[in-house]
Amino acid sequence: MPISLQSTLPRTYRIKQIEQDTENVRSYTFDGSLGSKPGQFVMVWLPGVDEVPMSVAFDDGATTKITFFAVGDMTIELAKCKVGDLVGLRGPFGTCYEWKPGQHIALVAGGYGAAPMYFIARSTVEHGCTLEVIVGARDKHNLLYLEEFEKLRHVSLHIATDDGSAGYKGYNTEVLEKLLSSCIPEKSKKKKECSPVDQIFACGPEPMLLAVRDIAAAHGIPSQLSMSRYMKCGFGLCGNCVVDPLGIRLCVEGSVVHNDVSQKIEEFGKYKRDELGKKKSFGN
Ligand SMILES: Cc1cc2nc3c(=O)[nH]c(=O)nc-3n(C[C@H](O)[C@H](O)[C@H](O)COP(=O)(O)OP(=O)(O)OC[C@H]3O[C@@H](n4cnc5c(N)ncnc54)[C@H](O)[C@@H]3O)c2cc1C
Repeated sequence: MPISLQSTLPRTYRIKQIEQDTENVRSYTFDGSLGSKPGQFVMVWLPGVDEVPMSVAFDDGATTKITFFAVGDMTIELAKCKVGDLVGLRGPFGTCYEWKPGQHIALVAGGYGAAPMYFIARSTVEHGCTLEVIVGARDKHNLLYLEEFEKLRHVSLHIATDDGSAGYKGYNTEVLEKLLSSCIPEKSKKKKECSPVDQIFACGPEPMLLAVRDIAAAHGIPSQLSMSRYMKCGFGLCGNCVVDPLGIRLCVEGSVVHNDVSQKIEEFGKYKRDELGKKKSFGN
């Protein structure tokens, strides 16, 4: 997809609304649309601090929403902004999720992944899709976007927490596995009233994505996963987000990758590269 010069240069947008979602998670709605599609990301710039990629949580053609964890230099500073402040945005960048009208889709969300999944949910239900939305977090205080998902029609919401303080006790990927295993109308005598899942979309920590990829493959269901790597330019120039051994740039050929591509990324779930291009193992 061609990137316009305008989208490679930051423009400032005014914060129209702020929501404090959890103790360290905030959502900002900016006064202006960048024309983002579900799954795409924008580069968020605070002059003199840093610029980081963030998934678009919603774009209704008039406003743009992001949801972020205040965890490091940039995001802690970003969390100090107030309504009316100006923030630099450029984009949208990257690939987007793809679906067909009327499909039955499972959305798996961990961490900030609930935000882009909400954008997808809003867009897919408008196309007559039915959704199984599985949101996971370490405890009930860190679950995101539940109220928003609950308000949508044709959405069955499933919750998983590591400590069992809400919903299923365990990982959201275990809920996905149970859901898919309980829905095999032709083979199972104990049939459950359900339509097979056509596609699985996921955004969240890489170990979660890896599990989703493998569960989807085991059930023969196509998957689309939003992978994150250290991104600097956002439009394919710097090469910091290339993945082994394909050499594709995740800011252009991703960050949403289909299963045929994710299966070939050997570093998937093993390591990623830092801002200097040095390999860092997951879990270190
Ligand atoms: C495509 C994509 C979409 C993302 N969407 C969101 C989102 O919606 N909400 C959200 O909270 N976070 C999102 N992130 C992560 C976000 O870009 C930052 O990593 C995170 O906000 C921490 O930044 P920091 O500078 O405050 O923290 P720091 O302490 O400076 O960095 C913490 C860690 O964040 C990662 N990081 C920092 N800068 C970048 C960068 N330029 N590119 C990629 N990773 C970086 C590194 O792993 C680093 O070790 C996304 C990342 C990518 C690649």
